[in-house]
Amino acid sequence: MTSQKTALVTGASSGLGAHFGRLLAGQGYHVLLAARRLDKVADLASQIALTGGSAEPLKMDVTNAASVDAAFEAMIRPPDVVINNAGVAGDGAAMDMTEEVFDMVIDTNLKGVFLVSQAAARSMKARGQGGAIVNIASILGLRVAGGVSAYTASKAGLVQLTKAHALEWARYGIRVNALCPGYIETPLNREFFETEAGKALIRRIPQRRLGQLADLDAPLLMLLSKGAAYVTGCALPVDGGHLVSSL
Ligand code: NAD
Repeated sequence: MTSQKTALVTGASSGLGAHFGRLLAGQGYHVLLAARRLDKVADLASQIALTGGSAEPLKMDVTNAASVDAAFEAMIRPPDVVINNAGVAGDGAAMDMTEEVFDMVIDTNLKGVFLVSQAAARSMKARGQGGAIVNIASILGLRVAGGVSAYTASKAGLVQLTKAHALEWARYGIRVNALCPGYIETPLNREFFETEAGKALIRRIPQRRLGQLADLDAPLLMLLSKGAAYVTGCALPVDGGHLVSSL
Protein backbone atom coordinates (compact mmCIF):
# COMPACT_ATOMS: atom_id res chain seq x y z
CA MET A 1 0.00 0.00 0.00
CA THR A 2 1.31 3.42 -0.98
CA SER A 3 1.13 6.23 1.57
CA GLN A 4 0.87 8.77 -1.24
CA LYS A 5 -2.34 10.77 -0.99
CA THR A 6 -4.67 11.21 -3.94
CA ALA A 7 -6.17 14.54 -4.99
CA LEU A 8 -9.12 14.93 -7.35
CA VAL A 9 -9.29 18.21 -9.30
CA THR A 10 -12.40 18.85 -11.41
CA GLY A 11 -12.29 21.05 -14.49
CA ALA A 12 -8.56 20.38 -14.67
CA SER A 13 -8.08 21.09 -18.37
CA SER A 14 -7.48 24.85 -18.13
CA GLY A 15 -6.97 27.89 -15.93
CA LEU A 16 -7.10 27.40 -12.18
CA GLY A 17 -7.80 23.65 -12.43
CA ALA A 18 -4.70 22.89 -14.52
CA HIS A 19 -2.67 25.06 -12.14
CA PHE A 20 -4.01 23.21 -9.08
CA GLY A 21 -3.22 19.88 -10.76
CA ARG A 22 0.41 20.89 -11.25
CA LEU A 23 0.64 22.39 -7.76
CA LEU A 24 -0.69 19.30 -5.99
CA ALA A 25 1.47 16.93 -8.06
CA GLY A 26 4.43 19.08 -7.02
CA GLN A 27 3.36 18.60 -3.40
CA GLY A 28 3.53 14.80 -3.79
CA TYR A 29 -0.13 13.97 -4.40
CA HIS A 30 -1.22 11.48 -7.04
CA VAL A 31 -3.58 13.78 -8.98
CA LEU A 32 -6.76 12.72 -10.73
CA LEU A 33 -7.21 15.34 -13.47
CA ALA A 34 -10.93 15.31 -14.20
CA ALA A 35 -12.44 16.80 -17.35
CA ARG A 36 -15.28 16.11 -19.75
CA ARG A 37 -12.78 15.23 -22.49
CA LEU A 38 -9.85 12.96 -21.68
CA ASP A 39 -7.66 14.36 -24.47
CA LYS A 40 -7.88 17.78 -22.75
CA VAL A 41 -6.11 16.49 -19.63
CA ALA A 42 -3.95 13.71 -21.10
CA ASP A 43 -1.23 16.20 -22.11
CA LEU A 44 -1.18 17.76 -18.65
CA ALA A 45 -0.83 14.29 -17.07
CA SER A 46 2.16 13.60 -19.35
CA GLN A 47 3.74 16.98 -18.52
CA ILE A 48 3.35 16.26 -14.81
CA ALA A 49 4.94 12.81 -15.29
CA LEU A 50 7.89 14.42 -17.10
CA THR A 51 8.56 16.62 -14.08
CA GLY A 52 8.54 13.59 -11.77
CA GLY A 53 4.95 13.96 -10.58
CA SER A 54 2.12 11.48 -10.64
CA ALA A 55 -1.20 12.20 -12.37
CA GLU A 56 -3.84 10.52 -14.49
CA PRO A 57 -6.67 11.81 -16.67
CA LEU A 58 -10.19 11.05 -15.53
CA LYS A 59 -13.36 11.51 -17.58
CA MET A 60 -16.06 13.34 -15.63
CA ASP A 61 -18.91 15.70 -16.46
CA VAL A 62 -19.76 17.19 -13.07
CA THR A 63 -23.33 18.02 -14.13
CA ASN A 64 -24.16 14.38 -14.78
CA ALA A 65 -24.68 11.97 -11.85
CA ALA A 66 -24.04 8.88 -14.01
CA SER A 67 -20.74 10.36 -15.22
CA VAL A 68 -19.65 11.25 -11.66
CA ASP A 69 -20.60 7.78 -10.37
CA ALA A 70 -18.79 6.06 -13.25
CA ALA A 71 -15.66 8.11 -12.55
CA PHE A 72 -15.69 7.18 -8.84
CA GLU A 73 -16.30 3.50 -9.67
CA ALA A 74 -13.33 3.52 -12.06
CA MET A 75 -10.96 4.96 -9.45
CA ILE A 76 -8.29 2.60 -8.19
CA ARG A 77 -7.15 5.24 -5.74
CA PRO A 78 -10.12 7.28 -4.47
CA PRO A 79 -9.35 10.84 -3.39
CA ASP A 80 -8.17 11.94 0.04
CA VAL A 81 -8.70 15.53 -1.03
CA VAL A 82 -11.03 17.06 -3.60
CA ILE A 83 -10.81 20.44 -5.33
CA ASN A 84 -14.21 21.28 -6.79
CA ASN A 85 -12.98 23.70 -9.43
CA ALA A 86 -15.13 23.10 -12.54
CA GLY A 87 -17.22 26.17 -13.22
CA VAL A 88 -18.81 28.30 -15.92
CA ALA A 89 -19.57 32.03 -16.07
CA GLY A 90 -22.75 32.44 -18.15
CA ASP A 91 -22.43 36.23 -18.32
CA GLY A 92 -25.31 38.41 -19.50
CA ALA A 93 -28.01 40.81 -18.36
CA ALA A 94 -30.50 39.15 -16.01
CA MET A 95 -33.38 40.47 -18.11
CA ASP A 96 -32.10 38.65 -21.21
CA MET A 97 -30.74 35.46 -19.66
CA THR A 98 -32.17 32.26 -21.11
CA GLU A 99 -33.34 29.36 -19.00
CA GLU A 100 -30.66 27.21 -20.65
CA VAL A 101 -27.83 29.50 -19.53
CA PHE A 102 -29.24 29.81 -16.00
CA ASP A 103 -29.57 26.01 -15.73
CA MET A 104 -26.07 25.42 -17.11
CA VAL A 105 -24.50 27.77 -14.54
CA ILE A 106 -26.39 26.31 -11.57
CA ASP A 107 -25.90 22.73 -12.79
CA THR A 108 -22.14 23.16 -13.14
CA ASN A 109 -21.25 25.47 -10.26
CA LEU A 110 -23.68 24.20 -7.63
CA LYS A 111 -25.20 20.82 -8.55
CA GLY A 112 -21.81 19.67 -9.84
CA VAL A 113 -20.23 20.27 -6.45
CA PHE A 114 -23.15 18.50 -4.74
CA LEU A 115 -22.68 15.40 -6.93
CA VAL A 116 -18.88 15.22 -6.70
CA SER A 117 -18.74 16.01 -2.98
CA GLN A 118 -21.43 13.45 -2.15
CA ALA A 119 -19.59 10.70 -4.03
CA ALA A 120 -16.28 11.73 -2.46
CA ALA A 121 -17.69 11.97 1.07
CA ARG A 122 -19.33 8.53 0.78
CA SER A 123 -16.02 7.03 -0.28
CA MET A 124 -14.10 8.90 2.47
CA LYS A 125 -16.61 7.74 5.09
CA ALA A 126 -16.31 4.13 3.90
CA ARG A 127 -12.51 4.25 4.17
CA GLY A 128 -12.67 5.88 7.61
CA GLN A 129 -9.66 8.16 7.16
CA GLY A 130 -11.43 11.48 6.72
CA GLY A 131 -10.50 13.90 4.00
CA ALA A 132 -10.58 17.50 2.85
CA ILE A 133 -12.74 19.17 0.25
CA VAL A 134 -12.05 22.66 -1.09
CA ASN A 135 -14.75 24.31 -3.19
CA ILE A 136 -13.62 27.03 -5.56
CA ALA A 137 -16.30 29.65 -5.01
CA SER A 138 -15.67 33.34 -5.75
CA ILE A 139 -15.89 36.78 -4.20
CA LEU A 140 -19.09 36.86 -6.27
CA GLY A 141 -20.47 34.32 -3.80
CA LEU A 142 -20.13 37.00 -1.10
CA ARG A 143 -21.00 40.18 -3.03
CA VAL A 144 -22.70 40.96 -6.32
CA ALA A 145 -21.80 42.62 -9.62
CA GLY A 146 -23.78 43.38 -12.74
CA GLY A 147 -24.17 40.90 -15.59
CA VAL A 148 -23.42 37.78 -13.57
CA SER A 149 -26.71 37.04 -11.80
CA ALA A 150 -26.70 33.26 -12.29
CA TYR A 151 -23.00 33.02 -11.47
CA THR A 152 -23.26 35.07 -8.28
CA ALA A 153 -26.31 33.07 -7.16
CA SER A 154 -24.51 29.77 -7.88
CA LYS A 155 -21.41 30.81 -5.93
CA ALA A 156 -23.44 32.14 -2.98
CA GLY A 157 -25.24 28.79 -2.96
CA LEU A 158 -21.86 27.08 -3.06
CA VAL A 159 -20.68 28.98 0.01
CA GLN A 160 -23.75 27.76 1.90
CA LEU A 161 -23.35 24.21 0.54
CA THR A 162 -19.76 24.29 1.81
CA LYS A 163 -20.96 25.17 5.32
CA ALA A 164 -23.75 22.59 5.27
CA HIS A 165 -21.34 19.84 4.19
CA ALA A 166 -18.80 20.95 6.81
CA LEU A 167 -21.48 20.64 9.48
CA GLU A 168 -22.77 17.23 8.41
CA TRP A 169 -19.43 15.60 7.60
CA ALA A 170 -17.28 16.78 10.54
CA ARG A 171 -18.23 13.54 12.32
CA TYR A 172 -16.45 11.58 9.56
CA GLY A 173 -13.28 13.67 9.78
CA ILE A 174 -14.08 15.37 6.49
CA ARG A 175 -13.29 19.08 6.39
CA VAL A 176 -15.05 21.24 3.81
CA ASN A 177 -13.95 24.79 3.01
CA ALA A 178 -14.37 27.28 0.19
CA LEU A 179 -11.75 29.42 -1.47
CA CYS A 180 -13.21 32.68 -2.81
CA PRO A 181 -10.82 34.08 -5.40
CA GLY A 182 -11.10 37.62 -6.63
CA TYR A 183 -10.14 38.39 -10.22
CA ILE A 184 -7.33 36.02 -11.18
CA GLU A 185 -5.50 36.57 -14.46
CA THR A 186 -5.83 33.59 -16.85
CA PRO A 187 -5.47 33.23 -20.64
CA LEU A 188 -9.28 33.48 -20.91
CA ASN A 189 -9.67 36.89 -19.26
CA ARG A 190 -6.29 38.51 -20.06
CA GLU A 191 -7.64 40.39 -23.09
CA PHE A 192 -10.53 41.90 -21.08
CA PHE A 193 -8.20 43.28 -18.45
CA GLU A 194 -6.30 45.16 -21.17
CA THR A 195 -9.48 47.10 -22.12
CA GLU A 196 -10.49 50.38 -20.46
CA ALA A 197 -13.30 48.56 -18.56
CA GLY A 198 -10.81 45.95 -17.39
CA LYS A 199 -8.32 48.59 -16.22
CA ALA A 200 -11.12 50.46 -14.38
CA LEU A 201 -12.00 47.24 -12.58
CA ILE A 202 -8.39 46.75 -11.47
CA ARG A 203 -8.39 50.29 -10.03
CA ARG A 204 -11.26 49.27 -7.71
CA ILE A 205 -9.14 46.49 -6.15
CA PRO A 206 -7.39 47.95 -3.07
CA GLN A 207 -4.07 46.29 -4.05
CA ARG A 208 -4.50 47.79 -7.60
CA ARG A 209 -3.57 44.51 -9.27
CA LEU A 210 -5.10 41.30 -10.54
CA GLY A 211 -4.52 38.10 -8.66
CA GLN A 212 -2.05 35.64 -10.16
CA LEU A 213 -2.52 31.87 -10.08
CA ALA A 214 0.34 31.60 -7.59
CA ASP A 215 -1.57 33.85 -5.17
CA LEU A 216 -3.95 30.91 -4.62
CA ASP A 217 -1.23 28.37 -3.80
CA ALA A 218 -0.57 29.01 -0.11
CA PRO A 219 -4.27 29.52 0.77
CA LEU A 220 -5.23 26.27 -0.99
CA LEU A 221 -2.38 24.27 0.55
CA MET A 222 -3.19 25.72 3.96
CA LEU A 223 -6.80 24.52 3.71
CA LEU A 224 -5.56 21.03 2.75
CA SER A 225 -2.82 20.85 5.36
CA LYS A 226 -2.77 18.87 8.58
CA GLY A 227 -2.18 22.16 10.39
CA ALA A 228 -5.68 23.23 9.30
CA ALA A 229 -7.26 20.25 11.09
CA TYR A 230 -9.57 22.59 13.04
CA VAL A 231 -10.55 24.71 9.99
CA THR A 232 -13.86 23.71 8.43
CA GLY A 233 -16.85 25.54 7.01
CA CYS A 234 -14.92 28.69 6.14
CA ALA A 235 -15.07 30.77 2.97
CA LEU A 236 -11.64 32.32 2.50
CA PRO A 237 -11.35 35.32 0.18
CA VAL A 238 -8.12 35.67 -1.82
CA ASP A 239 -8.78 38.96 -3.55
CA GLY A 240 -6.25 41.71 -2.88
CA GLY A 241 -8.85 43.33 -0.62
CA HIS A 242 -11.55 43.58 -3.30
CA LEU A 243 -14.31 42.58 -0.85
CA VAL A 244 -13.30 45.35 1.53
CA SER A 245 -13.13 48.03 -1.16
CA SER A 246 -14.59 51.37 -0.07
CA LEU A 247 -18.30 51.96 -0.71
P1 NAD B 1 -11.81 27.96 -16.99
O1 NAD B 1 -12.95 28.13 -17.92
O2 NAD B 1 -10.42 27.98 -17.55
O3 NAD B 1 -11.97 26.64 -16.14
C1 NAD B 1 -13.19 26.01 -15.87
C2 NAD B 1 -13.02 24.53 -16.15
O4 NAD B 1 -14.22 23.86 -15.81
C3 NAD B 1 -12.75 24.26 -17.64
O5 NAD B 1 -11.64 23.39 -17.75
C4 NAD B 1 -14.02 23.60 -18.11
O6 NAD B 1 -13.81 22.68 -19.16
C5 NAD B 1 -14.48 22.92 -16.83
N1 NAD B 1 -15.89 22.54 -16.87
C6 NAD B 1 -16.95 23.30 -17.22
N2 NAD B 1 -18.07 22.59 -17.17
C7 NAD B 1 -17.73 21.34 -16.76
C8 NAD B 1 -18.45 20.15 -16.53
N3 NAD B 1 -19.77 20.08 -16.73
N4 NAD B 1 -17.78 19.06 -16.11
C9 NAD B 1 -16.43 19.11 -15.92
N5 NAD B 1 -15.69 20.21 -16.15
C10 NAD B 1 -16.33 21.31 -16.56
O7 NAD B 1 -11.97 29.11 -15.88
P2 NAD B 1 -11.13 29.39 -14.55
O8 NAD B 1 -11.00 30.86 -14.48
O9 NAD B 1 -9.92 28.55 -14.46
O10 NAD B 1 -12.18 28.96 -13.41
C11 NAD B 1 -11.99 27.83 -12.56
C12 NAD B 1 -12.88 28.01 -11.32
O11 NAD B 1 -12.45 29.16 -10.60
C13 NAD B 1 -14.36 28.22 -11.64
O12 NAD B 1 -15.16 27.56 -10.69
C14 NAD B 1 -14.50 29.73 -11.51
O13 NAD B 1 -15.83 30.11 -11.21
C15 NAD B 1 -13.55 30.00 -10.36
N6 NAD B 1 -13.08 31.38 -10.27
C16 NAD B 1 -12.28 31.91 -11.23
C17 NAD B 1 -11.86 33.23 -11.10
C18 NAD B 1 -10.96 33.90 -12.10
O14 NAD B 1 -10.75 35.11 -11.98
N7 NAD B 1 -10.41 33.21 -13.08
C19 NAD B 1 -12.26 33.99 -9.98
C20 NAD B 1 -13.08 33.39 -9.03
C21 NAD B 1 -13.48 32.09 -9.17
